[in-house]
Amino acid sequence: MKIQAVRTKLYQWQGPVKTADTIFATPLSALPFQEDSQAPFRFFSWLVVEIETDEGHIGIGNAGLCPDVTKLIIDSKLKPLLINENPLNTEYLYEKMYRSTVAYGRKGAVLAAISALDIALWDIKGHVMQQPVFMLMGGRTKPAIKTYYSRLYTRNLDSLQAEAADFKAQGFTGMKLRCGYPLTEGKAGMKKNLEMVKVVRETVGDDVDIMLEAYMGFDFVYAKQFLQALEPYNLRWAEELLLPDEIHNFAKLKQYTDIPLSGGEHEYTRFGFYDLLKADALDIFQFDTNRVGGFTEAQKICTLAYQHGVEVIPHGGQMHNLHVVMSSFASPMAEYFPQTEIEVGNEMFWYIFNGEAVAENGFLQLDDNKPGVGLTLKDDYVDQFKIIE
Ligand SMILES: [Mg+2]
Repeated sequence: MKIQAVRTKLYQWQGPVKTADTIFATPLSALPFQEDSQAPFRFFSWLVVEIETDEGHIGIGNAGLCPDVTKLIIDSKLKPLLINENPLNTEYLYEKMYRSTVAYGRKGAVLAAISALDIALWDIKGHVMQQPVFMLMGGRTKPAIKTYYSRLYTRNLDSLQAEAADFKAQGFTGMKLRCGYPLTEGKAGMKKNLEMVKVVRETVGDDVDIMLEAYMGFDFVYAKQFLQALEPYNLRWAEELLLPDEIHNFAKLKQYTDIPLSGGEHEYTRFGFYDLLKADALDIFQFDTNRVGGFTEAQKICTLAYQHGVEVIPHGGQMHNLHVVMSSFASPMAEYFPQTEIEVGNEMFWYIFNGEAVAENGFLQLDDNKPGVGLTLKDDYVDQFKIIE
C-alpha cells in the first residue's frame, strides 16, 4: 500500500463570534500597553488534512495550532516526504518527518503539522485493521471516559455561579474556570481571581473538582503568592501558571504548594516532556495529540508519565485525545469543550467534524466497532466557512 495524495484544507470561520465577557489572563496580558491581549490567542480557523492511499483508504488528521502556517509546512515540506510511502509505517514516518525538519522544527507549528499527518496515518491504519485507534494503541483501560467541563470563561460572578450550578446539574464532577484578571492588575486582580474561585467552590460544594486555568499569564512571584492564597479551595490543579519555558520555576513552585501543577499544553515531543520529568516540574501533563507529535509521540509520553507518577489529562476533548485517554492508565479523565456558539475557537471541532463523542452525565464513550479516529467531515456548516485548499 502506498500514499498517493496528501490534501490540506484550511477552514476559516466566517459566521458569528461571541466575544462579550470572554476575558482571561494570557502571556501578552502580563505586558503594559495592551488593548487586546486576547487577540493572539483567539483562533477561528482549523486545518484538516486528508491522506489517500492507492487502495482507496482516506485518513483524516487535523491541527488547531496556527493552521495557516501549518498548512504551508505540510504542503511544501512534509507532503513530499510521505508520497509513495507505506502509511502503516507510522513509527518510521514520524521519525522521517521529525528528523527532516529538526533544523527549523522541534516545537510549535512544525510539530502541529507532523501531528496532523500522524493522526491521519493512524486513521488509515485503523481503517485497514478495522479497529478504532485506541484498540491499536493498547485497547480499553476504562469502561468509559470521565470528563471535566471546560468553560466558565466569564468574569461576572453571577454568571459564573449560574454556569457552575448548571454544569453540576448536568452530572459533571469537575469544571475549569479561567483567571479573569491579568498580572498587570497586581494584588487587586489577584483578589478578584480568588473571588472567582471562591464563588465556584461555594456553588458546587466540596465534592466537585475545580480546576483553575492561568494560560501562561503570570510570573513566579505572583504565582507563588497566588498558590498560597488558593490553598483553602482544594483545587484539582492550577494550570499553566507560567510560560512553558520556565521549567525551572515550575519546579521551584512545586516546593511551595500542595496544589497539583499542570501544564504541557504548549510543550512538544517526548524530549520536551522528558525535560519536565527530569526537573520534576509538573504533576499533570496536558499535551494535545494534535500538537505534541500525534499518536506516535503521545503514546511514548504516556508511558514515561505513568512510570513517574504524573497524570496525563490532554488539552481539549476531541477524538484524537480521547483515543489516548482510553488506551492509557496514565490518563484518568478528559477535558470536555461542549458544543456552543463560536467563542474562543475550541468549539470549532463540532462545526467541522461528525463523530465527536458527546458527554452524558459527565462521561464519554468510544465505540469499539468504529474504525480509525472515528471522524468524517461535516456538511452542515460548510457555507459558514471559507475553505482554502
Ligand atoms: Mg489550558
